[in-house]
Amino acid sequence: MLNHQNHKTPLTYEGTYLCPICRCGQIHNLTLMEAMGCDLCHHIFTINLEKQILKMVDREPSLTWRWTGNTWKGEHLGNLELSWIYWLIALSFVLFPPSLIALSGFIFPPVSGSAWSVFPLIWTTLSFLLHLLILLWLMAEAYQFPVILFFKTQFRRLFNLS
Ligand SMILES: [Zn+2]
Repeated sequence: MLNHQNHKTPLTYEGTYLCPICRCGQIHNLTLMEAMGCDLCHHIFTINLEKQILKMVDREPSLTWRWTGNTWKGEHLGNLELSWIYWLIALSFVLFPPSLIALSGFIFPPVSGSAWSVFPLIWTTLSFLLHLLILLWLMAEAYQFPVILFFKTQFRRLFNLS
């Protein structure tokens, strides 16, 4: 009996695969071309048959994915193994500034009842969110995750535009 879970198919121009960008469209061969296109987000890809790699050609720097036989593995993620030291730096980057602000607000509390009494809380929250945003942006850049492309496609799909 065939085990469908482990059934692997090679990456060829004849096949149909789930789009690695929008993750809901299908990519298949473009007529008379050595290229694949997604029917939903319309991005163009080429295949390296030998290495079983899919390359997105309409974006610079281009993104690549390796076909494992049943799913995509982002090639651009390959050499970016985050060690715990990076996580520690990231965590302190997000937590240290707001805790400093919170601490100063705690040591020198504003006059209670005044309009400024919520200021330390707002400032702490804002600095936490901003540092978190910077971190997420850095991670998206490092991993080359197509954030904008992803949301653009999801948006289009939601409102049925094309
Ligand atoms: Zn797509």
